Amino acid sequence: MMTGKEYIDSLRELKTIVYAFGEKLDNFVDHSLIRPHVNAAATTYDMAHDPEFEDLVTAKSHLSGEKISRFTHIHHSTEDLIKKVKMLRAISQRTGSCYQRCVGFDGINALYSTTYEIDQKYGTNYHERMADFVKYLQKTDKMVAGSMTDPKGDRGLSPGNQADPDMYIRVVKKNEKGIVIRGAKAHQTGIVNSHEMLIMPTIALDVADKDYAVACAIPVDAPGVLHIFGRQTNDTRKYDEMDQGNACFGVVGGEALTVLEDIFVPWERVFMCGEYDFAGMMVERFASYHRQNYGGCKGGVSDIVIGATAAMAEMNGVAKASHIKDKIIEMIHLTETIYCGSVACSSQGRPLPCGSYFVDPLLANVTKLNVTRNIYEICRLSHDIAGGLLATTPSEQDLNHPEIGKYVEKYSKGVDSVPAIERLRMVRLLENMTGGTALVESMHGAGSPQAQRVMILRQGNLPHKVKLAKRLASLDKSGSER
Ligand code: SF4
Ligand code: FE
Repeated sequence: MMTGKEYIDSLRELKTIVYAFGEKLDNFVDHSLIRPHVNAAATTYDMAHDPEFEDLVTAKSHLSGEKISRFTHIHHSTEDLIKKVKMLRAISQRTGSCYQRCVGFDGINALYSTTYEIDQKYGTNYHERMADFVKYLQKTDKMVAGSMTDPKGDRGLSPGNQADPDMYIRVVKKNEKGIVIRGAKAHQTGIVNSHEMLIMPTIALDVADKDYAVACAIPVDAPGVLHIFGRQTNDTRKYDEMDQGNACFGVVGGEALTVLEDIFVPWERVFMCGEYDFAGMMVERFASYHRQNYGGCKGGVSDIVIGATAAMAEMNGVAKASHIKDKIIEMIHLTETIYCGSVACSSQGRPLPCGSYFVDPLLANVTKLNVTRNIYEICRLSHDIAGGLLATTPSEQDLNHPEIGKYVEKYSKGVDSVPAIERLRMVRLLENMTGGTALVESMHGAGSPQAQRVMILRQGNLPHKVKLAKRLASLDKSGSER
């Protein structure tokens, strides 16, 4: 397993092409827009070597028997699934931001089981290739981005019916050596600081979309791949330290638009090619695994938001007010509610035909839908308690200004015992963690709320509930035993 430093050094050896703010970056690893995300991912590497977290952040490979990073592990029990959630909460408590590695982790788990079932139906050998890819990741400890979301073009049209056929990634050529793919992936969390990308279809597909039924792995610096780094709210602040709030780890995951111009993929890295009838299964498995995470990762982030809010209340001199205590209680309640969901969908996991474990998909989707609400409410309460300073604090440059700095300092003070700088740093942390980009990530990360609602209806077994009601109302005598 790599250490954080080894991981960061390994990124320097890649030829990853990254654009940001209209420039091609010479050194993306140390660039102020990207480095916080690199640091957050590096934390997942360092914690694997920390005896305190070893049990959560490492696992025993079912393929080699070796000790590996859990981020490269295939779940083989409900205990594995629960440990994943606990691990995510523990890492979020340290970074306060997204460390990006879970997307690829969920991708390998979704494809590991789906390839087994494709092989059973079609006699293909995708599962063996997938197992080889997992072994390679486990051995090298490389970070793999989960590349699912296509740009999608007209959402009312299927991939095969788009005016521009590149709106979803597709196979444009095939020969005895491999395939050539073209298209793009959007909102790519952590991709610029990953080593590999695992490409998967983004929606269920039909026979007309056969060319779009493709899953494969390529290096992020493969010839023809380029990444255009996304803007975030307040990203010009990344040139100042205090104003960022969380300068070391940033906010959310550092997303990019990744363009793939005719990339060759050798057959040994192709895990689905034309089996459109399995795209839906793959997407549902990936989505459920990723939605499982959100009570863990956002639970850990919320722990820091609660801590920062309580600290602000102290600094403002209102910590003892009963309504403040009540709001803090509410924030804890909302946080533990989402965590309960993640633990529940994990403990109700079940084995799949290949022997790996899957979460309860209904409970996983409920968890993520709760996150889209609870995080907004947690942040609303934090804004309520912290006060208007959250939105109006002068900049770090004004604080450091030789003439006006003394005024910023004098009038930014709360209780006398706390220096103004401490209050300013805390308010910036809270602003960073509860403002624009972080909130939107809670809403749309792991799929937008409507995607969870669709899955909830599908998994909720409504006919069974109607039957239960009819039986009690004496409208349906079938199945009645007494
Ligand atoms: Fe992991 Fe959370 Fe980031 Fe998703 S948002 S990659 S679950 S840390
Ligand atoms: Fe996410």
